[in-house]
Amino acid sequence: MLIDGHGRTVNYLRVSVTERCNFRCQYCMPEKPFSWVPKENLLSFEELFLFIKVAMDEGVTKIRITGGEPLLREDLDTFIRMIHDYNPDVDLALTTNAYLLPKVAQKLKDAGLKRLNISLDSLKPEVAQKIAQKDVLEQVLKGIDKALEVGLGVKINMVPLKGINDGEILDIIAYCREKNIKVRFIEYMENRHAVESLKGMHGREILAKVKEGHTIRTLGREGASPSFNYLLDESYEFGLIDPHKHDFCESCNRIRLTAEGMLIPCLYFDEALSIAKAVKAGNIEEASQVLATVLKDKPKENRWMDESVDSSQEISERAFYETGG
Ligand code: SAM
Ligand code: SF4
Repeated sequence: MLIDGHGRTVNYLRVSVTERCNFRCQYCMPEKPFSWVPKENLLSFEELFLFIKVAMDEGVTKIRITGGEPLLREDLDTFIRMIHDYNPDVDLALTTNAYLLPKVAQKLKDAGLKRLNISLDSLKPEVAQKIAQKDVLEQVLKGIDKALEVGLGVKINMVPLKGINDGEILDIIAYCREKNIKVRFIEYMENRHAVESLKGMHGREILAKVKEGHTIRTLGREGASPSFNYLLDESYEFGLIDPHKHDFCESCNRIRLTAEGMLIPCLYFDEALSIAKAVKAGNIEEASQVLATVLKDKPKENRWMDESVDSSQEISERAFYETGG
């Protein structure tokens, strides 16, 4: 079992397989970065897998593949199959913008993928285009339908932004409810790469919108999930991911691995250690040592919740498209 320096059990590893993306979401990667990480610095699937095996052997039971846009990485199904074949019981999930999903959903399912989180910020083509800076909606909706058709579990992520898609919260709920899938609203997290003028909605503002015409009952946090759950009209469950809330970090069970091999204990802070040298040398002991150090030094909590701190200035330079969100 993996326990961090604050006594929390860590059993969840998020793996970013690429920082590249085919969208330019205003809150994440509004412009193409000045330079991408050179291809030779990216860890191969075999190298990433060596660390993943160490993590699974030591107590990781849940793995999420993310990015950038993970479906841009060629042969992703091979990587998923490697993990699944090593431990078929691992809870193996993927976060994607779904643009490339219609072509690969079946392959991913066959390789052992269980669940997908799909980002859907609007049901209006022009608003989706404004956020992603590309005409994406039709293809994303096809991706969602394909995932459901092949039997993958689907959850939707929406980031409500003031003056952009804040009027669509109930529409997104109606869409998800009709398809019998859960939506989680994610509070916009300030960061140095996003468009400066963006204003996110606070959790309480999101809930106030949902309450217009509906009843909601608080269900509470589901285990160590970052999502706080609510029951709408006593019949439909949705979630709210609110990193600005005080109890958000208490049950944090996750660490993050980037495509270059940086092991990150907390999204908010810069601290990270590289596993690249260890995995390139096939040195399992060294990889395990790096993991132990990162866990020992995992911060107690982020500082998004501290309103006296200007998070956009203090938060790590690393972009969400590098760390995988
Ligand atoms: N490209 C994939 C996607 O968009 O689903 C996976 C990577 S993306 C970085 C992972 C998640 O982070 C997405 O659900 C996205 O909405 C969320 N995200 C990115 N930037 C964010 C921000 N500034 N605030 C809140 N959520 C953000
Ligand atoms: Fe790409 Fe996902 Fe970031 Fe949007 S949120 S730019 S789809 S990585």
